[in-house]
Amino acid sequence: MKVAFLGLGAIGAPMARHLAPRYELSVWNRTAARATQFAKETDCVAASSPAECARGAAVVITCLPTSREVEGLLDWGEGMFNALDRGATLVDCTSGDPATSRRIAARIATKGVGFIDAPVSGGVSGAMKGTLTIMCGGDEATMARARPILEAFGEKIVLCGPVGAGHAVKAVNQAMLGVHIWALSEGLVALQKAGVSTETALDVINASSGRSNTSMNLFPERVMTRAFPRTFKLALMDKDVRIAADFAREYGVPSPLLQLASELLREARRELGEEADHVETVQVLEKWAGVQLGKKP
Ligand code: NDP
Repeated sequence: MKVAFLGLGAIGAPMARHLAPRYELSVWNRTAARATQFAKETDCVAASSPAECARGAAVVITCLPTSREVEGLLDWGEGMFNALDRGATLVDCTSGDPATSRRIAARIATKGVGFIDAPVSGGVSGAMKGTLTIMCGGDEATMARARPILEAFGEKIVLCGPVGAGHAVKAVNQAMLGVHIWALSEGLVALQKAGVSTETALDVINASSGRSNTSMNLFPERVMTRAFPRTFKLALMDKDVRIAADFAREYGVPSPLLQLASELLREARRELGEEADHVETVQVLEKWAGVQLGKKP
């Protein structure tokens, strides 16, 4: 069975790597050198356009920054839209937005192509291990066709609702992540100013009810070490939290915290730039307060 994968970025590449030994895999990347290198390493085919990549594939997977780029592929060059086979399924692993996905799904349905939004969680390390959580939106019959392929890199795969539901759940998850990073940064900076070391504070919080993945893993591994590896861009988290804030507003849900989190992350992105990692957000709070976490108070 032919599977196509478009978007070999930080998380796309390790996801696609699991597909190469299992399927007849065709890959495409905007920067062609990345696809050529990937194909050489995994013994698959590097396509020269999205249309060539998707042609003849039963399942086409996309993993791009936003839904806008995914929609753009449909008309890229000769157009991936024209190349999709009737009966094929487009699985979008981008952390996208529900409204654009509904539009894409409606358009490709006109030629008998199914759509599943299937954003992932678990980071680059989860992608490498093949243990991602995948939250999906779509109908059950289309999901049944997508699931075996998703199992190559996913461990917990959940159909959350109709098209767009996966993206909505992902956005809310990302909002939680953004809020945790921001709130923990504010709290630890204040504690440091009050003479409590970050090490002591994290030790206590991580044995208490305020703990989170952010306090248990991200801060010890990335902030305490000052390593700040660049695995997931702040620009992408900003985009995700904005999707959550817009989504809540679209449904008329009072959401002051989501709206504020979105504004704060936009400001952090402005200060730190497009290449900064999401955990580097803490450096904005450190700068504002004039302290560095992990240093002796
Ligand atoms: P990267 O920035 O590392 O990669 C982005 C990919 O999209 C690259 O292949 C890039 O191509 C391609 N691309 C960018 N702009 C365009 C465009 N206009 N047209 C076509 N292709 C384009 O992002 P990630 O891999 O980190 O993220 C991809 C998606 O996965 C995002 O939605 C993100 O939110 C989500 N995600 C990421 C996680 C992570 O830990 N990194 C975790 C969970 C979800 P090129 O090589 O040419 O730049």
